[in-house]
Amino acid sequence: MILPIVAYGDPVLRKETEEITKDYPNLKEVIENMFETMYEARGIGLAAPQVNLPIRLFIVDATPFEDDEDLTEDEQKYVSTFKKVFINARILEESGDEWAFNEGCLSIPDVREDVFRQPEIVMEYYDENFKKHKESFKGMVARIIQHEYDHIEGILFTDKLSPLKRRLIKSKLENISKGKINIDYRMKFPNAKKKR
Ligand SMILES: [Zn+2]
Repeated sequence: MILPIVAYGDPVLRKETEEITKDYPNLKEVIENMFETMYEARGIGLAAPQVNLPIRLFIVDATPFEDDEDLTEDEQKYVSTFKKVFINARILEESGDEWAFNEGCLSIPDVREDVFRQPEIVMEYYDENFKKHKESFKGMVARIIQHEYDHIEGILFTDKLSPLKRRLIKSKLENISKGKINIDYRMKFPNAKKKR
């Protein structure tokens, strides 16, 4: 089932999210719905708060980057099979010199800005079968994970921009929260005028 994606301005995107157990109701279905919703919107990652669930769960599918010419051949090969579910994730370490990449977000359509992040992370998480992993990630995959991880911490990529950049996109963000935007996937807007 395709779920509406919550737009910028909705309080759920700022909530402290809860860890879940393997008994979380309909977990398998929640994950399936999130993948379906992400693919419909042509995303490469989606976090539970974006579908109105304040829990520590996100999904990543980096495979669309497999023919990205900015990536090395090794990295293209790495992303070509990278599809994962992350539950109760905790980043333990971030390292390396920050690099910029032009990020976007399904909750903030039509806004793309350069965001600086460190290139390597070490993370602990559970997969969809509640198997625990401790793993390191780097490059594009780390970048996508960091963006989605921020969502379960109540952080959006626009928070990481300079005060000047934030001022420049302020009215655009307000319009998004009101639903004054053209999109071709299902969204829920916090400040849309109620239809009679
Ligand atoms: Zn996002």
